Amino acid sequence: MAGVPSRWHLAVVGAGPAGAAAALGAMHAAPGLRVVLLDRADFPRDKACGDGVAPHVLDLLAGIGVTGLVSDKRPVDRLRLGRGGLASERRMARPAWVVPRRVLDARLVDAAVAAGVRLLRHRVRDLRHDADAVVLDGEISAAVVVGADGAHSAVRRALGQHRGPVALALRGYAPVAPRWRGAQVIEFGAQHQPSYAWSFDRGDGLANVGYGELLRADRPAPTRAQLFERLQALLPGAAEGGEDWLGHHLPLSTARWRPQRGRVLLVGDAAGLVNPLTGEGIHHAVATGIAAGRAAAAALRDGQPERAGAHYAHATGRSLLPHLRHTALAARLARSTRLIEAGLRASAADQDVFDDLVELGLARGRLTPALALGLGRALLTPTRPNGRPQEPA
Ligand SMILES: Cc1cc2nc3c(=O)[nH]c(=O)nc-3n(C[C@H](O)[C@H](O)[C@H](O)COP(=O)(O)OP(=O)(O)OC[C@H]3O[C@@H](n4cnc5c(N)ncnc54)[C@H](O)[C@@H]3O)c2cc1C
Repeated sequence: MAGVPSRWHLAVVGAGPAGAAAALGAMHAAPGLRVVLLDRADFPRDKACGDGVAPHVLDLLAGIGVTGLVSDKRPVDRLRLGRGGLASERRMARPAWVVPRRVLDARLVDAAVAAGVRLLRHRVRDLRHDADAVVLDGEISAAVVVGADGAHSAVRRALGQHRGPVALALRGYAPVAPRWRGAQVIEFGAQHQPSYAWSFDRGDGLANVGYGELLRADRPAPTRAQLFERLQALLPGAAEGGEDWLGHHLPLSTARWRPQRGRVLLVGDAAGLVNPLTGEGIHHAVATGIAAGRAAAAALRDGQPERAGAHYAHATGRSLLPHLRHTALAARLARSTRLIEAGLRASAADQDVFDDLVELGLARGRLTPALALGLGRALLTPTRPNGRPQEPA
């Protein structure tokens, strides 16, 4: 790499939302830092995703000066959650966005480059600790490294950390079915639990459609053809005319998640931080990316890069751990069809329950008293065989 400095304050491995946010977070906290963003791919590049972007993601980015990212896109304000014949469809408290990752990720990388970050195409294979630095592939040396290299992270493997539970999902782009225009539609599965199919209107005539399920040791992983069949069974017609089918793993968060100490920090999918209830991962990717970038900047400012992990643990401990405990519990409860149906009935009956469920699934929400009460009531209400509440006698 002629002409490229080999010693950096911060090297970020992976330029998805987590990595770009880490680089941006560091530059926002300390604009003079020498930050390199490494990715094995050239941008723009595609990434298998439902492309659902929670409004909270834009709030986080605005907090580090990145605005206008999706101002040319049309927001989606309706969400339909269903299972069998039962459904809860309401307006969300704040609209969400459906932005193809080919677009979103390239815009974030452009913002990082505009902030002074150096972008390099490089696939990281190896990581070693020197006396006072971390060395990537024997050639790129940095005081602090952020591993943002996704579900199959090489940085995580180099640290000797194991991956937790994973889901597998397939997505494509298809003409949006008229009945699902202007909405994000989620249909929970009846088999292969937990599982769901989705159709998210992009606002440009196409919908991102897909299906995903938890991988379990007691059943074989689904093939691509099976994922496609299960999507068609749950949302008939949604995949018609679909193209660009792409599958990928989702490393799901658990209540046991703890950030590592030292000079190497893991963020986003590399840290196993996909919401186990919904498969939402961009919010945690951006949130932990920014937290890691700020942590690196604070440790470097103090002349103690080895304390970057301690700063990161402090920031995420307060903001993330309680939410992870609540989503882990909610995901366990959602393995029961009865509880999913109770959740649908409770959120159909009460906007507050619906809003709290959306917060839990998309950002840092908790199992609130309103949600618990709504679920309890729905569980105690006698239902007909189709899951609908019985009419009072
Ligand atoms: C089918 C599907 C649907 C989903 N739907 C949604 C959704 O609607 N909303 C949502 O919020 N989340 C969704 N998710 C989850 C979301 O896609 C991820 O959580 C998110 O992409 C995590 O961002 P990241 O930056 O951590 O990782 P990634 O986006 O995976 O980025 C990792 C980057 O690292 C690079 N890289 C990998 N290895 C190396 C290496 N060795 N050296 C250098 N670079 C490397 C890759 O090229 C990539 O650019 C979905 C996931 C799947 C699979």
